[in-house]
Amino acid sequence: MLAIVLSIICAAPAPALALAARAESAMVDKGAALAGYSLTLEVESRWFASGEAEIPEGPPAFAALRSDRLELRLDGSEARRKVHVATPDGGVVDYQEQLGGGDAAEARAFERTLGMFAPWLMAQITSKRFTVKATPKLALDGRKLPALAVKTPDGLLTVAFDPDTGLPLVVRRVVSHPLRGRRMYELRYTEWRSAGPLRVPKAWTTSLGGEAIAYSTVRDASAVKARATSGKPSDAPPAAAEADIVRAMLAPTGGEVGARQWQRVSVAEGVDRLSGRAGDILVVEMRDHLVVFDAPCAGACADAALAELRRAYPKKPVRTLVLSHHHDARALGLLAFALAVDQIIVAAGARAWTEKLLQRLPKKRRPVVLDVAPQRAITDGTRVVRLTRLVDHPHASTLIMGYVQDAKVLWAVDVAVGRDHPLHFDWNERLSRAERSLGVGASALVVDGRGSVAPHTPLASVR
Ligand SMILES: [Zn+2]
Repeated sequence: MLAIVLSIICAAPAPALALAARAESAMVDKGAALAGYSLTLEVESRWFASGEAEIPEGPPAFAALRSDRLELRLDGSEARRKVHVATPDGGVVDYQEQLGGGDAAEARAFERTLGMFAPWLMAQITSKRFTVKATPKLALDGRKLPALAVKTPDGLLTVAFDPDTGLPLVVRRVVSHPLRGRRMYELRYTEWRSAGPLRVPKAWTTSLGGEAIAYSTVRDASAVKARATSGKPSDAPPAAAEADIVRAMLAPTGGEVGARQWQRVSVAEGVDRLSGRAGDILVVEMRDHLVVFDAPCAGACADAALAELRRAYPKKPVRTLVLSHHHDARALGLLAFALAVDQIIVAAGARAWTEKLLQRLPKKRRPVVLDVAPQRAITDGTRVVRLTRLVDHPHASTLIMGYVQDAKVLWAVDVAVGRDHPLHFDWNERLSRAERSLGVGASALVVDGRGSVAPHTPLASVR
């Protein structure tokens, strides 16, 4: 009797693992294992919007055509992604990312989005790299789908399966963003195709907070048996991305860059920059307070920056935060800094957005929001900091530059418009005019917010 009971228990795998095993057998030829393959995919995606589009006065939804070349070892030991983005206004962004590359935060962000890609995810489950447990069925379009909770190094995912085919249908993750709160990020697979011995998704919809933000289609897919892992680090170039809009889409959780040490570096008399891995913060000393430019990170990272400011300037509280623009890489720490300052200055196009975010703070702790439309000056009677808005700039609708007149320091973040952009010459001309309106001239220093301080040079197209 005992033997019979035991054999029943042993013969019946846990329901969660049975679901995963069924999905694997639906995705790979008999006798093979997902984790034994490398997969190369050419993916084309049309992105409609991102969190960036939440600015009512900003451009309509951000729209871009993005091509990704994904190379994944399904055992999870290597992955890289080359991305090419074309925006409707003619802008182009190219970058690549690599799992296990130099930057841990970058690699985590990559793994977070990659981790939702069904073949890779299922390979991690069936090779027991990620653990699973059963979860209540997921109701979707009037159907009840069997589902799994998957524990990944970066949080919990829910995967629901098509009861007819056994294939993954939906992968969900709850993401939390320091400015936008908690929202559901979802991939829903709508079509599958063959790639050698594997079945891989052919089309899927990405949505955030219940709203579709992208449709993706696989143009080409191939799978080969993975060679044995060499254990040597890959020779691909380290991750280098210069597109905060795109990055915000890729990594909507964005904020947890963690505690970072900030380094204070002098730029000019009474002007320093706090330099950290999230980017630079410009610190301008006024007579009895500080004006800072940008809040590039939230959480412990922002707390550490504010603590460093208190330590380094004990007699000068931070009174004013100026945001060069609203992108994550500049504004993630907005709420943390808001609790420390009396006023926040943003471009006219970002005022309503900023005020709406500040409503999350207790009424008494909300700083005043002032805008730059199109110019403003901050002064303590001696020092003058001039601000100007760059209206219709292709990088962001909310860009402003700042200039500390006596110290001749220009804070200019993401303002360069590349040579490959159709508006390159037009914008060089406009930037020159904007600089002249601030009083920028010979011997000024340009601080770009990304670690570079360079002597000001007149822009090439000034003819
Ligand atoms: Zn930006």
